[in-house]
Amino acid sequence: MTDEPCLFCKIVAGDIPSDVVHEDDVILAFNDISPVAPVHQLIIPRRHIASAADLSEEDAALLGRMFAVAADLARAAGLASPGYRIVTNVGPDGGQSVAHLHLHLLGGRAMTWPPG
Ligand code: AMP
Ligand code: ZN
Repeated sequence: MTDEPCLFCKIVAGDIPSDVVHEDDVILAFNDISPVAPVHQLIIPRRHIASAADLSEEDAALLGRMFAVAADLARAAGLASPGYRIVTNVGPDGGQSVAHLHLHLLGGRAMTWPPG
């Protein structure tokens, strides 16, 4: 086993640079390095949580903050009226590639449903 921090923990620590759009005591948000929409931002807890599957009721306040930050960022990007999508992927079939909880904020184009 390795104790190597995950990619997003390295971003939180400042060991890997990121294009930060919001930071506070519990949350960091930054632009996705490979955007799939005109606005593509990631909202993450500073604390390592592997995915939404690892959340418990004790994380309710944290989750509220994450969604409130996402809504603020969406408003700041002019997405409030056209709308946007908030996604969190879990595990291989969910399309999760980084095992540190994150919300994708996607907007600036019409999203399709069902997702791929
Ligand atoms: P997911 O596939 O849902 O786990 O999302 C991980 C996201 O992290 C992908 O959209 C990647 O493009 C993004 N990503 C990977 N490395 C970086 C990085 N160094 N800085 C910003 N975003 C990244
Ligand atoms: Zn992590």
